[in-house]
Amino acid sequence: AKKAGRDTLQFFDPRMQQVVRERATLEQDLRTGLAQQQFELFFQPQVEDGSIIGAEGLVRWRHPGKGFVSPANFIPLAEESGLIVPLGEWVLRTACEQLARWAQDPALSELVVAVNVSPRQFYQAQFVDQVLAALAVTGAPPSRLKLELTEGLLLTDIDDTIAKMVQLKQHGVGFSLDDFGTGYSSLAYLKRLPLDQLKIDQSFVRDVLTDPNDAAIAKTIVALGMSLGLRVIAEGVETEAQRAFLHEHGCHAWQGYLLSPPVPVAQLETLVRRERQT
Ligand code: C2E
Ligand code: CA
Ligand code: CA
Ligand code: CA
Repeated sequence: AKKAGRDTLQFFDPRMQQVVRERATLEQDLRTGLAQQQFELFFQPQVEDGSIIGAEGLVRWRHPGKGFVSPANFIPLAEESGLIVPLGEWVLRTACEQLARWAQDPALSELVVAVNVSPRQFYQAQFVDQVLAALAVTGAPPSRLKLELTEGLLLTDIDDTIAKMVQLKQHGVGFSLDDFGTGYSSLAYLKRLPLDQLKIDQSFVRDVLTDPNDAAIAKTIVALGMSLGLRVIAEGVETEAQRAFLHEHGCHAWQGYLLSPPVPVAQLETLVRRERQT
Protein backbone atom coordinates (compact mmCIF):
# COMPACT_ATOMS: atom_id res chain seq x y z
CA ALA A 1 0.00 0.00 0.00
CA LYS A 2 1.01 3.53 -0.59
CA LYS A 3 2.29 5.60 2.25
CA ALA A 4 -0.60 7.69 3.38
CA GLY A 5 -2.30 9.01 6.48
CA ARG A 6 -3.81 6.61 8.94
CA ASP A 7 -7.32 7.03 7.59
CA THR A 8 -6.53 6.85 3.91
CA LEU A 9 -4.20 3.87 4.04
CA GLN A 10 -6.99 1.32 4.44
CA PHE A 11 -8.60 2.67 1.32
CA PHE A 12 -5.91 1.00 -0.76
CA ASP A 13 -6.74 -2.40 0.64
CA PRO A 14 -8.52 -4.10 -2.28
CA ARG A 15 -10.99 -5.84 0.04
CA MET A 16 -11.97 -2.54 1.59
CA GLN A 17 -12.33 -1.08 -1.83
CA GLN A 18 -14.74 -3.83 -2.76
CA VAL A 19 -16.81 -3.26 0.36
CA VAL A 20 -17.00 0.43 -0.46
CA ARG A 21 -18.04 -0.34 -4.02
CA GLU A 22 -20.73 -2.82 -2.94
CA ARG A 23 -22.15 -0.30 -0.51
CA ALA A 24 -22.31 2.36 -3.18
CA THR A 25 -24.16 -0.05 -5.47
CA LEU A 26 -26.58 -1.09 -2.74
CA GLU A 27 -27.24 2.55 -1.92
CA GLN A 28 -28.01 3.28 -5.55
CA ASP A 29 -30.26 0.19 -5.64
CA LEU A 30 -32.07 1.47 -2.56
CA ARG A 31 -32.80 4.74 -4.30
CA THR A 32 -34.06 2.94 -7.37
CA GLY A 33 -36.04 0.52 -5.23
CA LEU A 34 -37.82 3.38 -3.50
CA ALA A 35 -38.67 5.02 -6.81
CA GLN A 36 -39.87 1.74 -8.31
CA GLN A 37 -41.83 0.57 -5.27
CA GLN A 38 -39.86 -2.59 -4.63
CA PHE A 39 -40.73 -2.45 -0.93
CA GLU A 40 -43.50 -4.28 0.82
CA LEU A 41 -44.67 -4.09 4.40
CA PHE A 42 -45.10 -7.46 6.10
CA PHE A 43 -46.95 -7.89 9.38
CA GLN A 44 -46.18 -10.09 12.35
CA PRO A 45 -49.10 -10.66 14.72
CA GLN A 46 -48.81 -9.52 18.32
CA VAL A 47 -50.76 -11.51 20.88
CA GLU A 48 -52.10 -10.32 24.21
CA ASP A 49 -53.97 -12.54 26.65
CA GLY A 50 -54.39 -15.17 23.98
CA SER A 51 -55.70 -13.12 21.07
CA ILE A 52 -54.18 -11.12 18.24
CA ILE A 53 -54.40 -7.46 19.16
CA GLY A 54 -52.26 -6.08 16.37
CA ALA A 55 -49.15 -6.53 14.30
CA GLU A 56 -45.68 -5.15 13.87
CA GLY A 57 -44.94 -3.83 10.40
CA LEU A 58 -41.59 -5.08 9.06
CA VAL A 59 -40.33 -3.84 5.74
CA ARG A 60 -39.31 -6.24 2.98
CA TRP A 61 -37.28 -5.37 -0.10
CA ARG A 62 -37.80 -7.37 -3.23
CA HIS A 63 -34.54 -6.64 -5.03
CA PRO A 64 -34.82 -7.37 -8.77
CA GLY A 65 -31.48 -9.22 -8.90
CA LYS A 66 -30.97 -10.47 -5.35
CA GLY A 67 -34.47 -11.53 -4.32
CA PHE A 68 -35.55 -10.56 -0.82
CA VAL A 69 -32.90 -8.49 0.97
CA SER A 70 -33.13 -8.59 4.77
CA PRO A 71 -33.82 -5.30 6.56
CA ALA A 72 -30.89 -6.17 8.82
CA ASN A 73 -28.72 -5.60 5.73
CA PHE A 74 -30.25 -2.45 4.29
CA ILE A 75 -31.72 -0.51 7.25
CA PRO A 76 -28.26 0.42 8.61
CA LEU A 77 -27.22 1.63 5.15
CA ALA A 78 -30.49 3.50 4.71
CA GLU A 79 -29.84 5.10 8.08
CA GLU A 80 -26.29 6.17 7.19
CA SER A 81 -27.18 7.48 3.76
CA GLY A 82 -30.29 9.33 4.94
CA LEU A 83 -32.53 7.21 2.72
CA ILE A 84 -34.24 6.04 5.88
CA VAL A 85 -36.18 9.30 5.83
CA PRO A 86 -38.11 8.63 2.59
CA LEU A 87 -38.20 4.89 3.34
CA GLY A 88 -39.53 5.50 6.84
CA GLU A 89 -42.10 7.88 5.44
CA TRP A 90 -43.24 5.19 3.01
CA VAL A 91 -43.51 2.66 5.87
CA LEU A 92 -45.54 5.09 7.97
CA ARG A 93 -47.85 5.92 5.10
CA THR A 94 -48.33 2.25 4.23
CA ALA A 95 -49.06 1.31 7.84
CA CYS A 96 -51.60 4.14 8.12
CA GLU A 97 -53.29 3.14 4.86
CA GLN A 98 -53.67 -0.33 6.31
CA LEU A 99 -55.11 1.01 9.55
CA ALA A 100 -57.61 3.12 7.63
CA ARG A 101 -58.77 0.08 5.64
CA TRP A 102 -59.10 -2.03 8.77
CA ALA A 103 -61.08 0.72 10.48
CA GLN A 104 -63.87 -0.01 7.95
CA ASP A 105 -64.01 -3.69 8.84
CA PRO A 106 -65.60 -4.65 12.18
CA ALA A 107 -63.49 -7.81 12.42
CA LEU A 108 -60.22 -5.88 12.04
CA SER A 109 -60.95 -2.38 13.31
CA GLU A 110 -59.39 -2.96 16.74
CA LEU A 111 -55.99 -3.97 15.41
CA VAL A 112 -52.98 -1.85 16.34
CA VAL A 113 -50.00 -1.49 14.01
CA ALA A 114 -46.52 -1.06 15.46
CA VAL A 115 -44.08 0.79 13.22
CA ASN A 116 -40.31 0.82 13.68
CA VAL A 117 -38.80 4.28 13.72
CA SER A 118 -35.09 4.79 13.15
CA PRO A 119 -33.27 7.43 15.21
CA ARG A 120 -32.35 9.43 12.13
CA GLN A 121 -35.98 9.52 11.04
CA PHE A 122 -37.14 10.52 14.51
CA TYR A 123 -34.56 13.32 14.72
CA GLN A 124 -35.91 15.05 11.61
CA ALA A 125 -37.40 18.37 12.62
CA GLN A 126 -40.53 17.45 10.63
CA PHE A 127 -40.98 14.02 12.22
CA VAL A 128 -44.09 14.90 14.23
CA ASP A 129 -45.66 16.61 11.22
CA GLN A 130 -44.77 13.63 9.06
CA VAL A 131 -46.63 11.24 11.37
CA LEU A 132 -49.62 13.54 11.78
CA ALA A 133 -49.79 14.02 8.00
CA ALA A 134 -49.72 10.26 7.38
CA LEU A 135 -52.61 9.86 9.83
CA ALA A 136 -54.60 12.78 8.43
CA VAL A 137 -54.15 11.94 4.75
CA THR A 138 -55.12 8.29 5.20
CA GLY A 139 -57.76 8.83 7.88
CA ALA A 140 -56.17 6.20 10.13
CA PRO A 141 -57.24 6.30 13.79
CA PRO A 142 -54.18 7.69 15.68
CA SER A 143 -54.84 5.49 18.71
CA ARG A 144 -54.21 2.41 16.54
CA LEU A 145 -50.70 3.52 15.68
CA LYS A 146 -47.83 2.53 17.90
CA LEU A 147 -44.28 3.68 17.27
CA GLU A 148 -41.38 1.44 18.25
CA LEU A 149 -38.38 3.47 19.33
CA THR A 150 -34.96 2.19 20.30
CA GLU A 151 -32.77 3.19 23.19
CA GLY A 152 -30.35 4.84 20.78
CA LEU A 153 -32.75 7.77 20.69
CA LEU A 154 -32.20 8.53 24.32
CA LEU A 155 -28.53 9.25 23.90
CA THR A 156 -28.68 12.38 21.84
CA ASP A 157 -31.33 14.80 22.96
CA ILE A 158 -33.67 13.52 25.61
CA ASP A 159 -35.66 16.75 25.85
CA ASP A 160 -36.31 16.84 22.12
CA THR A 161 -37.31 13.16 22.23
CA ILE A 162 -39.76 13.75 25.06
CA ALA A 163 -41.22 16.83 23.38
CA LYS A 164 -41.91 14.92 20.18
CA MET A 165 -43.40 11.97 22.02
CA VAL A 166 -45.66 14.23 24.07
CA GLN A 167 -46.99 15.94 20.95
CA LEU A 168 -47.81 12.65 19.28
CA LYS A 169 -49.28 11.20 22.45
CA GLN A 170 -51.68 14.12 22.62
CA HIS A 171 -53.10 12.78 19.37
CA GLY A 172 -53.37 9.26 20.78
CA VAL A 173 -50.28 7.69 19.23
CA GLY A 174 -48.64 5.04 21.44
CA PHE A 175 -44.95 4.27 22.07
CA SER A 176 -43.07 1.06 22.67
CA LEU A 177 -39.39 0.85 23.60
CA ASP A 178 -37.89 -1.77 21.27
CA ASP A 179 -34.99 -4.11 22.04
CA PHE A 180 -35.20 -3.05 25.64
CA GLY A 181 -32.18 -3.98 27.74
CA THR A 182 -29.72 -4.16 24.86
CA GLY A 183 -28.79 -0.48 24.84
CA TYR A 184 -27.75 2.09 27.33
CA SER A 185 -30.92 3.72 28.56
CA SER A 186 -30.76 4.73 32.17
CA LEU A 187 -33.69 4.09 34.42
CA ALA A 188 -33.91 7.79 35.18
CA TYR A 189 -34.64 8.49 31.51
CA LEU A 190 -37.06 5.63 31.31
CA LYS A 191 -39.16 7.25 34.01
CA ARG A 192 -39.35 10.53 32.09
CA LEU A 193 -40.41 9.07 28.75
CA PRO A 194 -44.12 8.95 27.99
CA LEU A 195 -43.99 5.28 26.97
CA ASP A 196 -46.80 2.75 26.86
CA GLN A 197 -44.80 -0.42 26.48
CA LEU A 198 -41.42 -2.10 26.88
CA LYS A 199 -40.37 -4.79 24.47
CA ILE A 200 -38.19 -7.62 25.77
CA ASP A 201 -35.53 -8.23 23.14
CA GLN A 202 -35.39 -11.62 21.51
CA SER A 203 -31.80 -12.08 22.66
CA PHE A 204 -33.18 -12.51 26.20
CA VAL A 205 -36.12 -14.65 25.12
CA ARG A 206 -34.06 -17.14 23.11
CA ASP A 207 -32.45 -18.87 26.09
CA VAL A 208 -34.89 -17.80 28.75
CA LEU A 209 -35.45 -21.42 29.79
CA THR A 210 -31.82 -22.45 29.98
CA ASP A 211 -29.85 -19.33 30.87
CA PRO A 212 -30.57 -18.08 34.38
CA ASN A 213 -29.19 -14.64 33.49
CA ASP A 214 -31.59 -14.22 30.59
CA ALA A 215 -34.44 -15.43 32.78
CA ALA A 216 -33.46 -12.91 35.44
CA ILE A 217 -33.33 -10.09 32.89
CA ALA A 218 -36.70 -11.01 31.41
CA LYS A 219 -38.29 -11.14 34.87
CA THR A 220 -36.70 -7.85 35.83
CA ILE A 221 -38.05 -6.12 32.71
CA VAL A 222 -41.54 -7.42 33.51
CA ALA A 223 -41.27 -6.17 37.09
CA LEU A 224 -39.91 -2.83 35.93
CA GLY A 225 -42.73 -2.46 33.43
CA MET A 226 -45.30 -3.24 36.07
CA SER A 227 -43.91 -0.75 38.54
CA LEU A 228 -43.76 1.98 35.90
CA GLY A 229 -47.28 1.18 34.69
CA LEU A 230 -46.10 0.00 31.27
CA ARG A 231 -47.21 -2.97 29.25
CA VAL A 232 -44.52 -5.49 28.42
CA ILE A 233 -44.30 -7.56 25.25
CA ALA A 234 -41.76 -10.26 24.43
CA GLU A 235 -40.41 -10.69 20.89
CA GLY A 236 -38.89 -13.75 19.29
CA VAL A 237 -41.07 -16.28 21.09
CA GLU A 238 -40.55 -19.53 19.21
CA THR A 239 -41.72 -22.24 21.58
CA GLU A 240 -44.72 -22.92 23.77
CA ALA A 241 -42.36 -23.40 26.71
CA GLN A 242 -40.95 -19.88 26.27
CA ARG A 243 -44.45 -18.44 26.02
CA ALA A 244 -45.57 -20.31 29.15
CA PHE A 245 -42.52 -19.20 31.13
CA LEU A 246 -43.05 -15.57 30.22
CA HIS A 247 -46.75 -15.81 30.97
CA GLU A 248 -46.07 -17.36 34.35
CA HIS A 249 -43.81 -14.42 35.15
CA GLY A 250 -46.34 -11.77 34.24
CA CYS A 251 -45.64 -11.10 30.58
CA HIS A 252 -48.92 -11.71 28.77
CA ALA A 253 -48.07 -10.21 25.40
CA TRP A 254 -45.76 -11.70 22.81
CA GLN A 255 -44.92 -12.13 19.16
CA GLY A 256 -42.82 -14.72 17.40
CA TYR A 257 -42.58 -17.70 15.12
CA LEU A 258 -44.61 -19.74 17.62
CA LEU A 259 -47.67 -18.09 16.07
CA SER A 260 -46.34 -16.64 12.83
CA PRO A 261 -43.36 -15.01 11.13
CA PRO A 262 -43.96 -11.62 9.47
CA VAL A 263 -46.38 -12.27 6.58
CA PRO A 264 -48.09 -10.31 3.77
CA VAL A 265 -51.14 -8.41 4.93
CA ALA A 266 -53.68 -10.83 3.42
CA GLN A 267 -52.19 -13.66 5.45
CA LEU A 268 -52.31 -11.63 8.63
CA GLU A 269 -55.98 -10.86 8.00
CA THR A 270 -56.68 -14.56 7.50
CA LEU A 271 -55.00 -15.36 10.82
CA VAL A 272 -57.11 -12.75 12.61
CA ARG A 273 -60.40 -13.78 11.00
CA ARG A 274 -59.77 -17.44 11.71
CA GLU A 275 -59.04 -16.65 15.34
CA ARG A 276 -62.12 -14.45 15.73
CA GLN A 277 -64.36 -17.22 14.39
CA THR A 278 -63.33 -19.83 16.92
P1 C2E B 1 -36.80 -5.69 15.20
O1 C2E B 1 -37.66 -4.47 15.17
O2 C2E B 1 -36.21 -6.08 16.51
O3 C2E B 1 -37.70 -6.83 14.58
C1 C2E B 1 -37.71 -8.16 15.03
C2 C2E B 1 -37.01 -9.08 14.07
O4 C2E B 1 -37.08 -10.42 14.58
C3 C2E B 1 -37.64 -9.14 12.68
O5 C2E B 1 -36.59 -9.33 11.74
C4 C2E B 1 -38.51 -10.39 12.76
O6 C2E B 1 -38.77 -10.98 11.51
C5 C2E B 1 -37.66 -11.28 13.62
N1 C2E B 1 -38.45 -12.28 14.33
C6 C2E B 1 -39.77 -12.23 14.64
N2 C2E B 1 -40.15 -13.30 15.33
C7 C2E B 1 -39.04 -14.07 15.48
C8 C2E B 1 -38.80 -15.33 16.13
O7 C2E B 1 -39.68 -15.97 16.72
N3 C2E B 1 -37.52 -15.81 16.08
C9 C2E B 1 -36.52 -15.13 15.44
N4 C2E B 1 -35.31 -15.68 15.43
N5 C2E B 1 -36.73 -13.94 14.83
C10 C2E B 1 -37.96 -13.41 14.85
P2 C2E B 1 -36.56 -8.50 10.39
O8 C2E B 1 -37.95 -8.41 9.83
O9 C2E B 1 -35.50 -9.12 9.56
O10 C2E B 1 -36.13 -7.05 10.85
C11 C2E B 1 -34.86 -6.83 11.39
C12 C2E B 1 -34.73 -5.43 11.93
O11 C2E B 1 -34.80 -4.48 10.86
C13 C2E B 1 -35.86 -5.03 12.88
O12 C2E B 1 -35.60 -5.54 14.15
C14 C2E B 1 -35.78 -3.53 12.78
O13 C2E B 1 -34.76 -3.03 13.61
C15 C2E B 1 -35.39 -3.30 11.34
N6 C2E B 1 -36.59 -2.97 10.56
C16 C2E B 1 -37.46 -3.80 9.93
N7 C2E B 1 -38.44 -3.11 9.33
C17 C2E B 1 -38.21 -1.81 9.59
C18 C2E B 1 -38.87 -0.58 9.25
O14 C2E B 1 -39.92 -0.54 8.61
N8 C2E B 1 -38.30 0.59 9.70
C19 C2E B 1 -37.15 0.58 10.45
N9 C2E B 1 -36.67 1.74 10.85
N10 C2E B 1 -36.52 -0.54 10.80
C20 C2E B 1 -37.04 -1.72 10.38
CA1 CA C 1 -39.35 -3.65 16.29
CA1 CA D 1 -37.19 -5.63 18.53
CA1 CA E 1 -34.50 -7.08 18.14
